[in-house]
Amino acid sequence: MTEITEKYRYMKIFKKNEICLPNSWIVVRLDGKQFSRFTDIHGFEKPNDVRALQLMNKAAACVMEEFKDICLAYGQSDEYSFIFTKNTKIFDRCRDTISTIVNSLFTSSYVYYWNDYFAYTKLLYPPSFDSRVIIYPSDINLRDYLSWRQADVHINNLYNTVFWALVKKGKHDRQKAQEILRGSVSSTKNEILFKNYGINYNNEPVMYRKGTTLIKKLISCAEDKKKHQIYILQLNCDIINDSFWKENFEILGL
Ligand code: ATP
Ligand code: ATP
Ligand code: MG
Ligand code: MG
Ligand code: MG
Repeated sequence: MTEITEKYRYMKIFKKNEICLPNSWIVVRLDGKQFSRFTDIHGFEKPNDVRALQLMNKAAACVMEEFKDICLAYGQSDEYSFIFTKNTKIFDRCRDTISTIVNSLFTSSYVYYWNDYFAYTKLLYPPSFDSRVIIYPSDINLRDYLSWRQADVHINNLYNTVFWALVKKGKHDRQKAQEILRGSVSSTKNEILFKNYGINYNNEPVMYRKGTTLIKKLISCAEDKKKHQIYILQLNCDIINDSFWKENFEILGL
């Protein structure tokens, strides 16, 4: 047996697990694989199935509870980003280990809690998510990253809201709706929604427009005020402007 293990010892030379740059934000973003198809097959309401968004938030909260060093998570559509504190020592900062464990815990939680959100929809095949690690050295980089994801949900959700109004209320086929919207600017989309369908985009549910931000807060225990407990707070607010970061200054460790 020892001879055999000796023979294969050199396999370890090929092992590679990059270490994340020290003193930098570690971000894991995962995204549903072919969710255009997954959402079709499972009959998601379009453009936004609120049950699906809540299931994503639940799976993200499971990940956040498991890892004390995740200080913030941001989700929209079929994606979630997890922010680890700059100095985290999680898995010795090994990139692949962090990415794969976060992803598999998220994915298994998504499946585990499926029935709580889709009581009458059978899960027809096992969904999967891709994941990647991105390193941001500065606080500005991190804020710009999160602003970028929130700007993305705004652009996509405005488009999807008009698209599905044209299809469902306007009775246009999907191709025609696409043609109408080709090259249109935001103000035109807002106008189509308001004039043709009486929809004021700003009154659409805030979770659809802003995505979901999960942060951790300390609360003192009811029995013993000196003891503290961490709980996860779910927000659907603007995270681009300064006010969120001023109110929650502890996230950046200021
Ligand atoms: P890829 O594998 O490249 O990510 P994808 O089909 O998942 O392909 P995305 O760009 O990630 O492409 O788009 C996600 C798709 O899932 C979009 O079509 C979006 O409308 C849909 N989707 C995600 N969440 C919801 C939801 N809560 N309700 C309805 N549709 C959703
Ligand atoms: P790590 O998170 O570092 O991987 P681990 O506890 O999973 O920690 P491994 O070296 O991967 O450590 O060992 C797997 C453990 O699971 C061993 O203790 C092994 O005996 C046990 N195990 C795995 N598969 C089975 C199985 N089919 N039946 C019984 N025990 C199993
Ligand atoms: Mg994609
Ligand atoms: Mg996707
Ligand atoms: Mg996506």
